[in-house]
Formats: sequence, structure tokens, C-alpha cells
Amino acid sequence: MILIGPPGSGKGTQAQRLEQRIGAVHLSTGELLRDEIAAESPLGKTAATYMNAGRLVPDQVAVKVVVDHMDRGDPDADYILDGFPRTTIQAEELDRILGERGLEVGKAVEIYIEDDVLKERLTGRFACVKCGEGYHKSFKRPEIEDVCDKCGSIEFDVRSDDTEETIRTRLGIYHVETAPILPYYENRGLLVKVDGEKSVSDVTKEIELILADVG
Ligand SMILES: [Zn+2]
Repeated sequence: MILIGPPGSGKGTQAQRLEQRIGAVHLSTGELLRDEIAAESPLGKTAATYMNAGRLVPDQVAVKVVVDHMDRGDPDADYILDGFPRTTIQAEELDRILGERGLEVGKAVEIYIEDDVLKERLTGRFACVKCGEGYHKSFKRPEIEDVCDKCGSIEFDVRSDDTEETIRTRLGIYHVETAPILPYYENRGLLVKVDGEKSVSDVTKEIELILADVG
């Protein structure tokens, strides 16, 4: 399954919840790339240049990081792809690579949400410096003020791609570069839309129903 949605639509959260509930493997391109950046690999260094400027990483870099992980993992696993493919070129490349392995995309789920709602959501995000747990000033504060729920650290950081200017850039990129993959999947009868302004658990339930349909 492919999860499509603008930054701030909650697709990462949904992918994690679905991973736990249906046992599929969640592959987040953002996370995979951040791992490469942390490891200072050549792939990571290239990716950092683009991500720090709020831009998409080149297609070849995104494809490589995802395919490497799939090839190293369980060949029978079901995958939830989050943040990939992001462009029509990546979508075509993914179909080609899956086809070579006798696999295919089951569903493409679009989490739909208005830009104004997204801007509000995105400007409040922050994360624990030590363990990476994500928070939000309006929607998900730590239980004890300024202390990470997961690891107890007291250091937090606003993600460098969450400033107002990069948010504008990222939403612009989503509409110009990613939104065109929607008709790509629609034409194949694979696209289903889910209302991203509903509660997190309602969105999860809707996606589960959609996937139950795939079998
Ligand atoms: Zn933490």
C-alpha cells in the first residue's frame, strides 16, 4: 500500500498504527533518509543538501533507499510506503521494480486535507533530541511539560524543515510534484481518498476497511 498525503496530514502516524495493527512493514522514506544522513553516507550527504533546503531528494536517491531496504527484508512482507513514491517518475520506477519481483501496488490511499489546516498543524511540531519522539504544541504535548514521554530527555528541537518558509515550500512542492501521482493511481483503479481532518483513529479505521477490501 502507498500512503499519499501532504506534509502534516498524519501519514507517518497512520503508517505506524497500521504497521502495529495489520503487521505490514512501514517504510518511511523520510526516516530512511534521516538514517543515511546520520550515518553520513554518500547517499545521506546528497540527501541532506536537498532536505535542508525543504526540497525533494532526487528520484534516483529516493528509489535507491527504498529498494535497498525491501531487498534486504522479508520477501513475503506487505509494505506500507510512506513518503514514496513522490513523483510520477518514482511511481513508474516503483511499478517497474515491483514487477521484476512479481509484486504490485495493492492500493494507493490519499489522506486529503486543506493547506490552511496543515500550516496550523505543521508550525507546532517539535521532537525529542535524544530518541526522536515527535510532539506538537497543540495536539500532542509531553505528559510532563518539557520531559520526553519515551526517554525522559529534556532537550527538544524543532525540525529544521518545519519553519514557516520551508513549510510553504514543501506544500508548494506537494501540489506541483506529488499531487500529479494521484491521477497515475486513479487511472489504474487503485486510488482511494480518506478525509484527513477526521480523528487519527477514524482515519486508521477507514484505511483498514480499504485494505480489507484488497485481501
Ligand atoms: Zn525522547
